[in-house]
Amino acid sequence: MFLDEVSADNQDFLITSQRDDAANKDTGTLFLQKKQTIISFLEAHGVTHKLAKTIWKNPKLQQRNLSSVSTEDPIICSDPSESWKYCHILIPNDQVITLAKSGDEVVISKKAADPQKSLDFGRINIKNSIYQDGGLFNNSLLNQINLALNGFVKSGYAIQPGDHLEFLYERKHYDEGFETVGYVVDVNYVGKRQSIHLSRFPGHGNYFFDEGGRSSTKGFLKFPVKFSYVSSPFSKGRKHPVYGIVKPHHGVDLAAKMNTKIHATAAGKVTYCGKKGGYGNAVVIKHKGHYMTLYAHMNKFAKNLKVGEYVKAGQLIGFVGSTGISTGPHVHYEIRLNNIPIDPMRSQVVHSSQLKPSELKLHLQNQANWDMMRMSFNG
Ligand SMILES: [Zn+2]
Repeated sequence: MFLDEVSADNQDFLITSQRDDAANKDTGTLFLQKKQTIISFLEAHGVTHKLAKTIWKNPKLQQRNLSSVSTEDPIICSDPSESWKYCHILIPNDQVITLAKSGDEVVISKKAADPQKSLDFGRINIKNSIYQDGGLFNNSLLNQINLALNGFVKSGYAIQPGDHLEFLYERKHYDEGFETVGYVVDVNYVGKRQSIHLSRFPGHGNYFFDEGGRSSTKGFLKFPVKFSYVSSPFSKGRKHPVYGIVKPHHGVDLAAKMNTKIHATAAGKVTYCGKKGGYGNAVVIKHKGHYMTLYAHMNKFAKNLKVGEYVKAGQLIGFVGSTGISTGPHVHYEIRLNNIPIDPMRSQVVHSSQLKPSELKLHLQNQANWDMMRMSFNG
């Protein structure tokens, strides 16, 4: 099913291709290389520079998200040489962009894919950390597991060598030939200090719930950045490092290396992205429940970040810098409730939600089913 009426738009994409250089002979699923753009990718696959550029610049194509194709988005070409007839590009939210050669022309279309899903099983034996020991698994799975456990298992405290976790996750199979992973649906953590069983519950988005029906995913991630130390805490009155006068400090300063990634601490809408006086390059995000967060002194913003955009918890929004009034690379991070600053280090912003009794009953049945399924995978 094509969402975009290809025929009506065709005229915009009738472009001539004449290149006949030898091209990449790799087969199977391809990815953009680091720093490779769709232009250079197409060129590597037998499209002339001129044609690739015309495709790229076409405003209708930009609407088709070709500009947002990343090194994570798989590309399948019918034949990854100059003689390819079509390329399918899988972009987020299960959308597939297709570039199809028709004679000397390239026709571009986009459709919503409808992947078949199956469940698979994974196990991680902990020696160091989920990421180090789970290296075999796709990063998206590890991120989901980490986020699920985040609220319950304190890293470095409860996670002990010798612990293990088992999880169930979706595999997605697309008509176009893509094979990807989807949601982690169930995580069973068995540890020396703590054991916990977390499952998703339908209708509750990305949240996981434990055996008591409590949500494991907090409203806000604790910190937006991997920082070295708190260079300045939240305070209602402190001596300002630059002005030398006593002023309140409405956030925490998290010292970090230049260009460390900064992530949104909760899902929300970007209401500011630009220079903001002493804050330097700053991003402000508005969240549910009259919260907002502010991230200041950035060196640069995440590519394509714009005011009005919705970001997810954990989404990359920028990179650590020292812009504005600042004595070195750090993130000044603020949370405000009804525009009143609160201390990010202490606040209980974070309320775990609880399943209703009727939901909890169903949830426990689901968990029993997941237990059985894990056992069957375990043989
Ligand atoms: Zn600060």
